[in-house]
Amino acid sequence: VSKEKGPSTYHVYIEEMHCHYTKQLTLEKRLNKAIEEKSFQLHYQPQYDFYSQQVVGFEALIRWFDEDLGYVPPDQFITVAEETGLIIPIGRQVLDQACQKGKDWYDNGLNIRVGVNVSPVQFQHPDFIQSVKWTLVKTGLPAERLDIEITENVLLYNKEACMNTLEQLKAIGVHISIDDFGTGFSSLSYLRTFPVDMLKIDQSFVRELKRNHNDQAIVTSIIQLAHNMGMKVIAEGVETSDSLNFLMDQHCDQMQGYLYSRPIPPEQLPLFLTENRVMHRSSET
Ligand code: C2E
Ligand code: MG
Ligand code: MG
Ligand code: MG
Repeated sequence: VSKEKGPSTYHVYIEEMHCHYTKQLTLEKRLNKAIEEKSFQLHYQPQYDFYSQQVVGFEALIRWFDEDLGYVPPDQFITVAEETGLIIPIGRQVLDQACQKGKDWYDNGLNIRVGVNVSPVQFQHPDFIQSVKWTLVKTGLPAERLDIEITENVLLYNKEACMNTLEQLKAIGVHISIDDFGTGFSSLSYLRTFPVDMLKIDQSFVRELKRNHNDQAIVTSIIQLAHNMGMKVIAEGVETSDSLNFLMDQHCDQMQGYLYSRPIPPEQLPLFLTENRVMHRSSET
C-alpha cells in the first residue's frame, strides 16, 4: 500500500461509515412505520418428515416490503431491529401472526407445528414468557403446536436466566429447536441440561454434502448426537437430491429446503395444503 493511498482510503472509510449510519437511520424510521401499520408478512416453509413422508410443520419467515426501500431481506434488518430494540414489537407481531396461522391449521384438522424465530434480545426480554402465554391464550393454539427456534448464541449471555426461560417454555409445553446448529460459539455442554427437542443443522453444512467430506463428518455427528440424546434433527437448506440422499442414509428425521419447497406466501398455502401430504390429526398415533 503506497503512502498516497492513505488519505483516500481514510476518506472512503468515513464515507462508508456515514453511509452506514444514514442507512441505519432510514431503516429504523421505515421499520417504525411498518410496526405501526403492522405490514410485516410471514411466509411459511414446509418441514418434511422422512418417516411419515408428510409435512409436519412450517417455519414462519418474516417478509418486509417497504414502499421506498422495496423488499428488504430479514438478514438486512433484523440486526438493526435488535440494536434499536424494535425487535421486541416486531417479534410480538410475528408470534401473533404465526400462532393465528397455526390455529387455522389446527382448526382445519392438521397436526402440524408452526416454527417461530426468536432473537436473543427477544428471548431475554423480561416479558417474553408472558407474551408467549398470552398469545397462546388469545389465539387458542395448543402450546405443543408452537415451535420456538433459538440460536446457540442465546446461551452466551446469561446461562441461568436462559435456563430459566427454557424451563418455563417447557412447562407451558412449547417445542424448542436450536437453529443454525453448529455455527454458534457456545459449548456443547448446555445440551446436557437444556430441555431441547430438536437440532436444526445449519445450511452451510448441508449445501455441499456430496463433495465435502468434512461437512459429511459434521452432519453425521450432529445426527448421532441428537439421536443419542433423544432429540430430533432437521436439515436446513436442502437444495439437491445428493444432499437428500446423504441425509436419508444417515437417518436424519426431517428436512427443509428449496428441493422440497421455498417459503410459501400465505395466499398460496391452501393450494399447497391440498396438493401435498400433510399430517392430519386423525392420523395421530
Ligand atoms: P433461519 O431461521 O436459519 O432461516 C432459514 C433461511 O434459509 C431463510 O432465509 C430461508 O428462506 C432460507 N432457506 C430455506 N431453504 C433454503 C435453501 O434450500 N437454500 C437456501 N439458499 N436458502 C434456504 P430468510 O427468510 O431470508 O431468513 C434469514 C434469517 O433471518 C433466518 O435464518 C432467521 O435467522 C432470520 N429471521 C427470519 N424471520 C425472522 C423472524 O420472524 N424473527 C427473527 N428474529 N428472525 C427472523
Ligand atoms: Mg429459523
Ligand atoms: Mg437456520
Ligand atoms: Mg440463519
